[in-house]
Amino acid sequence: MKIAILSRNPKLYSTRRLVEAGLKRGHEVRVIDTLRCYMNMATDNPTIHYRGETLEGYDAVIPRIGASVTFYGTAVLRQFEMLGVFPLNESVAITRSRDKLRSLQLLSRRGIGMPVTGFANSPDDVQDLIRMVGGAPLVIKLLQGTQGIGVVLAETKKAAESVIEAFLGLNADILVQEYVKEAGGSDIRCFVVGDRVVAAMKRQAQPGEFRSNLHRGGTASLVKITPKERQTAVKAAKVMGLNVAGVDLLRSSSGPKIMEVNSSPGLEGIESATGKDVAGLIYAFIEKQIEERKATTRTKGKG
Ligand code: ADP
Ligand code: MG
Repeated sequence: MKIAILSRNPKLYSTRRLVEAGLKRGHEVRVIDTLRCYMNMATDNPTIHYRGETLEGYDAVIPRIGASVTFYGTAVLRQFEMLGVFPLNESVAITRSRDKLRSLQLLSRRGIGMPVTGFANSPDDVQDLIRMVGGAPLVIKLLQGTQGIGVVLAETKKAAESVIEAFLGLNADILVQEYVKEAGGSDIRCFVVGDRVVAAMKRQAQPGEFRSNLHRGGTASLVKITPKERQTAVKAAKVMGLNVAGVDLLRSSSGPKIMEVNSSPGLEGIESATGKDVAGLIYAFIEKQIEERKATTRTKGKG
């Protein structure tokens, strides 16, 4: 198969592994810099251009779109979709998952466990907002934050009020969340491919820290997840419409609580913590999807 990897940086571990695993399985793999693609949207004849050439004949595209280029990146991916190329994750699903509020709203509607979460726009309602999520201690998150930056633990009601007021005063979009203390500074990353969790790791925050992000000094280790955690992670990815997702959950006393669903989950942490060939499993999924697509087209052709 001919496969495009949309990535800004061929040197990243995840990109390198996807190239390596694809070549190993006999595919033609090419890394394409998302931002260097330009497109033509003529009626019935959409095209994608790249460094002077027209991109043609691809069977599948693996989007690795960073948070800072979501808008243009999903437009490029959509153009591949218009050409009939199979996207590992669809552009609409990526857009959906990048919006934390929208994601939580969708997950809550489908009955998936999550920390009690509130959001507001006006500093006038802070008292009630705090009451709504069960009072202090609570977690305040900047919607635009990633890698743990912009996630604050307010231990007292006074601290919570000040931080929320300060953020809202700066016109920052925030959400306010129940603090899941039992998690003890750890969370579980479930790597979902299709309808399976193919690898899972536990991330533990360093002492004195509640954020388990590896970028904040957290450490990763292999973990065995429960059937309920497995089900929850797979369902969360399905609700978002993602074939491949990094689903992060907290172990609470009332079961798994989803924090976020990532559409371009990194491979380095999960492959080194679990020793699994996650990149290879991603290709196995793509191969199966393409086979099924071909079979459907053949059947349709006969009918
Ligand atoms: P980011 O997108 O910046 O990674 P997260 O929502 O994933 O933000 O939060 C970062 C980390 O903070 C999580 O991995 C988790 O360890 C901790 N954390 C976040 N929300 C809660 C919560 N409600 N209760 C307990 N710990 C939390
Ligand atoms: Mg996170």
